[in-house]
Amino acid sequence: MRPLALPVALVLAALPLVAHAKHQAPQSAQTDQKVHKVEQVADGIYCIFGQGGNIGLIVTDRHAVLIDDQYERIAPGLLAAIKTVTDKPIKYLINTHHHGDHTGANLVLEKQVMAIVAHANVRKRLETSQAKLEPAERGGLPELALGEEDSRVRARLDIHLDGTDLHLVHFGPGHTDGDVLVGIPAKHVIHMGDTFILGMLPIIDTEGGGSFEGLVAQIEVVASFLPEDSKVIPGHGAVSGKKELLRYRDFLRALQAHVKAGPGRKPKELAESFDTKAWPEWQPVSPFVTWESLFAAASGQGPGIARRP
Ligand SMILES: [Zn+2]
Repeated sequence: MRPLALPVALVLAALPLVAHAKHQAPQSAQTDQKVHKVEQVADGIYCIFGQGGNIGLIVTDRHAVLIDDQYERIAPGLLAAIKTVTDKPIKYLINTHHHGDHTGANLVLEKQVMAIVAHANVRKRLETSQAKLEPAERGGLPELALGEEDSRVRARLDIHLDGTDLHLVHFGPGHTDGDVLVGIPAKHVIHMGDTFILGMLPIIDTEGGGSFEGLVAQIEVVASFLPEDSKVIPGHGAVSGKKELLRYRDFLRALQAHVKAGPGRKPKELAESFDTKAWPEWQPVSPFVTWESLFAAASGQGPGIARRP
């Protein structure tokens, strides 16, 4: 299945559609173009912005860990950006979910890391999406998997690396059926993947196993335990804190309440009767995610993505 976050990243990065197809770019098309910006989030923790989902970089005493990797064709630029922070070997690459703007460089990075780690459904979906490719074009699948095919089963994997603990947690279906949130408790930092997006309406990839109710439930849980001074890295948008996450929780609650207040209403009616102006942090990105497509997902009446490329 074609990874579904393509349009998301397309719009955010304002890039031509043709440049994004994951495996259409041959090795020679990789560039080290300087699209990446590195921001320190906490001691030893960085967020790398570029084209696609926000990348987390965790530097321990002897190693580095990467969370997501954007696109294959800009992998050299990503590696150059990492080098500006650390020369330590990248031991693990964690994929927060299967979408191509978070896993596109797996094929390149698998040669540089000891293991790619993700939810079992991420491996399954990437494997399925590669089935039609030539054998030489396949690869970059997660080797270490947590969780079960039934995405309602919660799962957790702890990585203990040089005295730094990383908690990988799958709370159930949300953005997709393979979401993993990565917490670094000692630093009060969490990378949310696309369960938390700023600037654009939430994406519920129902065809990728996502669930609106599941997303609301897990954001409630995360918001309940996150320390006040937490740094929150969203899948897209600026590095935030607990305040922004609580506001997002309230937004999801409002969406949920609106759907429940008028059972039987079509997504269009739900969209037209919702106070969209009250939530300026989240905007439709036409034609990919609209208020109508969001309410279609929230009310179980259609996919949470308006149109595929
Ligand atoms: Zn995504």
